[in-house]
Amino acid sequence: MRNPLTTLIARAAEVTTTVPPRPAFLRHCVLALVAAVAAAGSFSAHAQAFPTKPVTLVIPFAAGGPTDLLGRALAQSMGASLGQAVIVENRVGAGGTVASAYVARATKDGYTLLLHHIGMSTAPSLYRKLSFDPLKDFEYLGQVADVPMTVIGRPNLPANTPQELIAYLQREGKAVNLSHAGLGAASQLCGMLLQQAVGAESTTVPFQGTAPALTALIGGQVDLMCDQSMQTVQHIKAGKVKLYGVTTRERLKPLPDAPTLREAGLKDFEVVVWHGLYAPKATPAPVLAALNTALKAALKDPALIKRLDDVGVQVVKEGLQTPEALHAQLSAEVNRWGALIRQAGTYAD
Ligand code: ASP
Repeated sequence: MRNPLTTLIARAAEVTTTVPPRPAFLRHCVLALVAAVAAAGSFSAHAQAFPTKPVTLVIPFAAGGPTDLLGRALAQSMGASLGQAVIVENRVGAGGTVASAYVARATKDGYTLLLHHIGMSTAPSLYRKLSFDPLKDFEYLGQVADVPMTVIGRPNLPANTPQELIAYLQREGKAVNLSHAGLGAASQLCGMLLQQAVGAESTTVPFQGTAPALTALIGGQVDLMCDQSMQTVQHIKAGKVKLYGVTTRERLKPLPDAPTLREAGLKDFEVVVWHGLYAPKATPAPVLAALNTALKAALKDPALIKRLDDVGVQVVKEGLQTPEALHAQLSAEVNRWGALIRQAGTYAD
C-alpha cells in the first residue's frame, strides 16, 4: 500500500507536466517531502526503540523535599525498567505551576515527563492566569502513590501535644509562622485546612519547597509546618522536630505513637497527597505505552515499595496505574478544589 506522503511526492512530481517548468523550485518541494517521509519513518522507528537516550523527570519543588524524594525513587526504578537513565530536574516556583507549564510546552517525544501531586488539581482555580490547562495539555501516564502528611513544629515550640498545639494556635493567632511550599502546594493546602479546623489564622511563610522550609523549621526561624512523611519521618525519628499528628485516617506504621489529627479532636481531618505522572499532550501512543509499562514495573519494584513503606507511603493499586485513572482523579479533584477555592475566595494572582 502506498504511504500518503509517497502519494503526495508522486503528485508533486506530476505537476512538472502541467506547470511551466520551474525545476529548482520543484526539486526543492520534492526534496522537502522526501525529507518529511524520512523524518516520519525515522520517528516511528524511534518510537519503537524508545528510549534511546536518558529521560528527564521534572519535579516541581526543591531538591531534597518530599516530591523530589518520591521522584528520585521512581526515576531509579523506571530507569531500570526502561534501560535508560531517568534524570531528575527540579523546576521550582509558583506552587508547582512553573514546572507544569514547562512540561506542557516540552517536545512531545516522551523524553520530558512531570511528576506532580494534588497541586495539579488546585492550580486552575488558584491561578486565574495559568498558561496551561491541566485537563487539556497533558497525556496521563498513571497515578503513582498516596503520601500522608505530618504536622510538625520547631524543636522548642511551647506545645507538646496536639491539644496544646491547638490551644497555642488559637491563643497566638498571627504571631505563629506557618511555612509551606507555595500556593497550591500540599503543605499550603494542609496548612489552610488546619487553620480552618482549629479556627485560628496564622501568618503563612512560602518557600520553594518543603526542603528549605524544613531547614528553617529545624533552625527555629518558623514555627510550624504540614509536610509529607516522605521527607519528615527521618527528622521526626531523629528528634529534630516536634510531631503533633498525622493527617491520615489511620496511624502510620513508621510512627505508631503519633495520633491522627482526628484522634486529637479535629473531626473529619484528612489530607493524603495523591501523585500522577504526566507527559506533554500528543506524545506518540507507542511512547506512552512504553512509559506506562515502565511506571507499572517501577511500582512493583520491591526496593521502591520498601523505601516508600518505611516512610508510611503506599504505591497505588494496579488499577490506578493507568492513564484513565489519573485523568478521572484529576478531573474529580479539579472540580472539588474549584468549588472549595471559589468559596474561600483565595487566589494566588
Ligand atoms: N510536595 C511538597 C508540598 O506540596 C513540596 C515539596 O516537595 O517540596 O508541600
